[in-house]
Amino acid sequence: MLKLELGDAVKQLKKLHAKRVFLQVPEGLKTKTEGIIAELEEKGFEVVTSMDPCFGACDLKQDEAKRMECDAILHLGHTEFVKKTSVPAVYAPLKYELGERFERIIKVITEYLRDERINEVCIVTTAQFLHYLPLLKKELEKIKVKVRIEKGKRVEEGQVLGCNYSSAETKALAIIYFGDGLFHPLGIHFATGKKIIIANPIDLQIRPLEEEKDDFLRKRIMLIERAKEAKSYAILVSTKEGQNRASEAEKIKKELEKKGKTARIYTMDFISQEALLGIEAEAYINTACPRISIDDYLNYKKPIINYPEVEYLLGKKDYEKYKLEYIY
Ligand code: SF4
Repeated sequence: MLKLELGDAVKQLKKLHAKRVFLQVPEGLKTKTEGIIAELEEKGFEVVTSMDPCFGACDLKQDEAKRMECDAILHLGHTEFVKKTSVPAVYAPLKYELGERFERIIKVITEYLRDERINEVCIVTTAQFLHYLPLLKKELEKIKVKVRIEKGKRVEEGQVLGCNYSSAETKALAIIYFGDGLFHPLGIHFATGKKIIIANPIDLQIRPLEEEKDDFLRKRIMLIERAKEAKSYAILVSTKEGQNRASEAEKIKKELEKKGKTARIYTMDFISQEALLGIEAEAYINTACPRISIDDYLNYKKPIINYPEVEYLLGKKDYEKYKLEYIY
């Protein structure tokens, strides 16, 4: 069960002497917004709430907070991403409470490691399960497995984001991804080239990442090859604080133009097919959150690729060495 703990965040806001708080709520919590506001009001804060879509702490609405004359931002559901801020920002991550499932998944993981004779691993997870990593480490050390929790850049120890797998840079040959879903394990594999073991504490299954790797790569190649055929490109730049890559967009525009293509830059806060109404370009280059092109490419009418993939499109890199670049 996912739990939002506001206690620490409230303490930090009080320490900052914040009276008027700009609240950012992730999509998964939007239905609970009014309850959260009421809780904050009870603690004595005035609350102004942003109802714009929010998928990560890369999206810190500092200008809006200033315009609404707020003393601080309270960002829910994510960990810190933007380091220097002009408005103080406080984070209240969502934590998944596993209860007795934790013991059960530990049993599954230890049996698997014993059977596979794996005696050293790096463990990584997403923000929701981060509080379980030290416990997982302790349990695995009991069966003499050497456990590494690496400190990545701009993330917590052992944390991975869809745009940042630096905590998976490790000397260990195998990486255990503690969490659910395939997006992050695929990202870790294509960022590091390492063997990935998915330990899912929700369905209590453990397995190596296998055929999904080929399927993922096939889809990326297909998209890049379709984008390669285009004569005109829309380079999409988000104005979100931690997703804005204006200089990369300029570089790509020049490179595409050198190849005789038309390339134009379009900027928007939230990138979507609807926002591109009327744009005739034959392919899109996304410079914002990589999930837009990886998770949501089917929502777009034209092929959409991430900006590091332009290197493959231009023939500068070979698909055999396909790698997901970190974007942070
Ligand atoms: S850029 Fe995307 S993956 Fe990275 S923190 Fe933002 S929403 Fe998450």
